[in-house]
Amino acid sequence: MGEDDNFEMHINDTLECGAGLCNTEAVRKIVEEGPGMIRELMEIGAKFSKENGALLLGKEGGHSMNRIIHAKDLTGKEIERALLNKISKNNKIRLFEYYFAIDLLTEKNLKKKLSKDLRCYGIYAFNVKSGKVDKIIAGTTILATGGAGQIYLHTTNPAIATGDGIAMGYRAGCEISNMEFIQFHPTALYDPENDERTGQVFLISEAVRGAGAVLKTIKGKEFMKAYDKRGSLAPRDIVARAIDNEMKKSGDTHVLLDLSKIGIERIKNEFPNIYKYCLTKGIDITKQMIPVVPAAHYTCGGIKTDLNGRTNVKDLYASGEVTMTGVHGANRLASNSLLEAMVFSNAIYTDINGKVNSKNYSRKDLSGIKKNTYDWDDDGMENTEEWILISHNKKEIKEVMSDYIGIVRNTLRLERAYRRIVMMKDEIKDFYDKTKVNVDLLELRNLVTVAFLVISSAMKRKESRGLHYMSDFPGKDDKNFLKDTVISKINYKL
Ligand SMILES: Cc1cc2nc3c(=O)[nH]c(=O)nc-3n(C[C@H](O)[C@H](O)[C@H](O)COP(=O)(O)OP(=O)(O)OC[C@H]3O[C@@H](n4cnc5c(N)ncnc54)[C@H](O)[C@@H]3O)c2cc1C
Repeated sequence: MGEDDNFEMHINDTLECGAGLCNTEAVRKIVEEGPGMIRELMEIGAKFSKENGALLLGKEGGHSMNRIIHAKDLTGKEIERALLNKISKNNKIRLFEYYFAIDLLTEKNLKKKLSKDLRCYGIYAFNVKSGKVDKIIAGTTILATGGAGQIYLHTTNPAIATGDGIAMGYRAGCEISNMEFIQFHPTALYDPENDERTGQVFLISEAVRGAGAVLKTIKGKEFMKAYDKRGSLAPRDIVARAIDNEMKKSGDTHVLLDLSKIGIERIKNEFPNIYKYCLTKGIDITKQMIPVVPAAHYTCGGIKTDLNGRTNVKDLYASGEVTMTGVHGANRLASNSLLEAMVFSNAIYTDINGKVNSKNYSRKDLSGIKKNTYDWDDDGMENTEEWILISHNKKEIKEVMSDYIGIVRNTLRLERAYRRIVMMKDEIKDFYDKTKVNVDLLELRNLVTVAFLVISSAMKRKESRGLHYMSDFPGKDDKNFLKDTVISKINYKL
């Protein structure tokens, strides 16, 4: 949307960052349809940062131009506020709060089979308030459950980012693609008093480096130029690996981000949330450098979809971080994610309206399907009193993932992680099969499944590309690996 910018430049930046694995058509789609989506968001009330009446365009790592439309330093929250406000006025939309989606309803849940295709008929959902599991029958189902950062000890993701949709999709037979590409954000606040349970760390947005902040070692030495000519604004994978390397060389627990070039007024004005949060931790970022460490930030892989957001399961769509649309390839270009979520959600809406993919079920058909679907059966299952098993298992998964399959990987570590996760997966399945469901147990089951998918995908890629760095295969191998990794339960072989 910037005057000196154009679609081709944004496309090229995205492709370069994606290290050969982006689907150019998907990239072109989000770039070209993005401005229209942003205008629509503004029409429904989203308020983005402006200067002299014009949108203020920020710059982030890997972008050759200032082009990031943002709402101060809480863009996602502003989009969510505007959308929730809009749907609260639409009486055709019903929100089911306090429901936790457990599994997709497919042919195997029907008493009498209806189709030869792998088809989705809705979900089983745990009603957190009643403690019962309900069937929600739908002609079309869209998974929009977000990413899976919670498989790691330190993540910028919220506690809900347990990869539920990816695990549900995998269990139902969806193709899951490129799970080895987990983006670590280079600059999360280093906080020794961090909440160990959720592992959620506070993000120091890339826009801070875009505004001129520079990374330094604890001794005060700038180091990024030695790794990349773009210095502190190199793409995230390069910056995260550089920080990881500096920390390993020095034994330090973190590095520092120096904001002195930005200026006090601009810091307070453009980064009010970061400024206030750091103050609560005793750090005045207008005077002091911020201690930072890399943390798991974005799941580039997920349920494979086409340009209409369709999955390989009929009547099932997916949108947002739960997907692998082909936009991000081996590494997501900063801030392409919200754009991808908007553009692909719009594509899904258009596709469903066209009724090309989905069957046009009447209310009567749907109630027939409901009768034909098995009820959730937990007769004979017990309420767990073994909370310790759940919390220990969660911690163990996070430790295995962080120790063996973080920023730098190798075959030995992957094999070790695989053995441990497969054992945990079996144990958790055993426990799940005899226990009445609750949110913690359901999340644990999903976390171990997603961890398994990340490790299995990483083991298939014996090269280094984008976010997947193998110390024993340090180079790119286009001959064998210039392709997406795809895993599906139906034809899965390691
Ligand atoms: C700190 C931070 C900063 C970021 N900054 C940017 C940025 O500046 N620009 C950008 O483009 N991207 C940014 N990203 C990435 C971007 O915010 C996410 O990719 C995006 O919000 C994902 O949206 P989503 O709708 O797919 O999922 P989410 O926003 O995570 O929403 C998923 C929803 O599904 C619900 N859910 C999950 N599981 C279940 C279940 N089993 N049953 C019922 N409900 C469920 C959750 O409660 C949640 O409401 C940032 C991410 C983080 C963590």
